[in-house]
Amino acid sequence: MAIRIIVKDPDPVLHKRCREVEVIDDKVITLLDDMIETLHAANGAGLAAPQVGILKRICIVETEDGFFELINPVLKSGKGTQTGVEGCLSVPGKYGKVSRFNEVKVEAFARDGKKYLYKVKGFTARAFQHEMDHLDGIVYTSKATDMQDD
Ligand code: ZN
Repeated sequence: MAIRIIVKDPDPVLHKRCREVEVIDDKVITLLDDMIETLHAANGAGLAAPQVGILKRICIVETEDGFFELINPVLKSGKGTQTGVEGCLSVPGKYGKVSRFNEVKVEAFARDGKKYLYKVKGFTARAFQHEMDHLDGIVYTSKATDMQDD
């Protein structure tokens, strides 16, 4: 395992659409393990592969609801709205308000190759949506209002 360098905005890699993962091979498993170590070292709630320079549809989320590894995640449904403060490891020292679905259902593969359906709400749902946006080249600052320095 290794800690990877977190890419900072406005690096162009953060603004590209990521490719689907076709095979969950050793490279993907190593990437996931490195992302976990990198997330823990940075003390974040989530990390997406483009944030470590890899344009693959992989992200991880860790909140009080648990740890989630999402490979090729797809938003199946969303309901309700929440507005709250968000930050991003790729945009250090800044925060902004973003409106998101309050609850989401997301289908994704895990490293075991199986597909799972996650039903999450509140902060965890916010983190899912933030990380999945990264896979489409969207950094939250493009959706945020009231951006502030730390
Ligand atoms: Zn982010």
